[in-house]
Amino acid sequence: MPDHKEMTKLMTKRLPRPTMALLIACGVQGANHGFQVFLVGGMVRDVLRDRISRDPDLVVQEVVPTLDASARYAEVLAGSLGVTVSPPSQFGTIKVVAGGLEVDIASARRESYASPGALPDVRAATIEGDLGRRDFTINAIGVDLGPKTFGNIVDIHGGQEDLNHRVIGVIHDGSFADDPTRLFRAVRYETRLNLRMTMMTEMALRRDIGHLAAVSGDRIRNELERIFVEDNPAHALSRADELGMLQATLPALTWTSAMTAAARQMKERGPMSFLALLASSLSREDAEAFAARINATGPWSAIIHDAVTVAEQLDDLAVSGLSPSGVYRILEGLSPEAVSAWAALSGDATAAGRLREYADNLRYVRPALDGDALLALGVPQGPRVGELLRELLHARLDGQVANRADEEALVRDRL
Ligand code: ATP
Repeated sequence: MPDHKEMTKLMTKRLPRPTMALLIACGVQGANHGFQVFLVGGMVRDVLRDRISRDPDLVVQEVVPTLDASARYAEVLAGSLGVTVSPPSQFGTIKVVAGGLEVDIASARRESYASPGALPDVRAATIEGDLGRRDFTINAIGVDLGPKTFGNIVDIHGGQEDLNHRVIGVIHDGSFADDPTRLFRAVRYETRLNLRMTMMTEMALRRDIGHLAAVSGDRIRNELERIFVEDNPAHALSRADELGMLQATLPALTWTSAMTAAARQMKERGPMSFLALLASSLSREDAEAFAARINATGPWSAIIHDAVTVAEQLDDLAVSGLSPSGVYRILEGLSPEAVSAWAALSGDATAAGRLREYADNLRYVRPALDGDALLALGVPQGPRVGELLRELLHARLDGQVANRADEEALVRDRL
């Protein structure tokens, strides 16, 4: 376990120079104004694991702990370092932007939970109390940033030992019940950091899985989104499935090995492709329930519903002799994520080929002529313009016209 000198060396080696300079300045400014400042959370973990980490989380503590320490400390930074300070969140966490980094500053605090999934009651505390409210031991390591104490590690829950043993463990047995979003966080960290939950933690997770029912749709959606943007979402989703977390979120929800294989195959794969894959095995009714459960709106809702719509069209997409414009008519307006997901999932080569062709090419096809060009050719203003544009598009898709001149000839023919 590194002492303060070794930790300072590690930080100097593994953090970008401006980040290190900022942390030193934060500690010095704190000390000048009566605050003890600690680096906590992801950045400490990532320095110890030699991984890149961007934005620091700081905890500030005063001799007599108060909840508004973070606000007063942020003012100090604003005055001395010229950082931009955002208004405090509901729990008194303040974001300051300094040199392109977003620094989260919180007053050292304890949290208690009235019921599973509820928002916590918060009281001012020392750094030790603050580390005790955190999700996992590996995220509950503090590093003192004070000028005389720089690099001192506060690790009362064995976070470094867990990191060395490549395991992830909760700080206390009731952790998942306190905040069931930690179930999702656990599989996310397992996947990203290539760790494995301790047996005790996995048992606690399985025991407390039912508490997921109490978590709001917005919070579940937020956790899913955080998984989707990871490097290997399929692994985390597969683990969430194996642990029963997806089913606890919605009984019909599952992540299959076919979905993992499809994800691997997809060329253009973005975070939301994983939502499409996740929704792909749902019935229409279950998709409605899933969208409602995670309070899905906008693109989330569209992708969930479109994944089911494409599934319902697979037979039609496999029919022999279907023209490109026929494919277009079936898939027009559906989310590209849903189409690409099914292109990779469908076991029918014809349907899969057409889905891929739509996703890669057909959906981008446009006629060369636009409404103005049609009017200039003598098409009367009104619905005929739209009808002809549509016909031109279909003719383009089916290769009946190849260029502007062909299109003009077709229009003249129709007039
Ligand atoms: P990353 O952002 O890389 O996923 P992080 O550890 O910085 O990792 P954040 O979600 O930004 O994660 O949270 C910062 C820190 O706040 C965590 O390291 C953890 O100590 C604490 N934390 C965040 N969410 C929770 C939670 N639900 N329960 C307990 N502690 C949490």
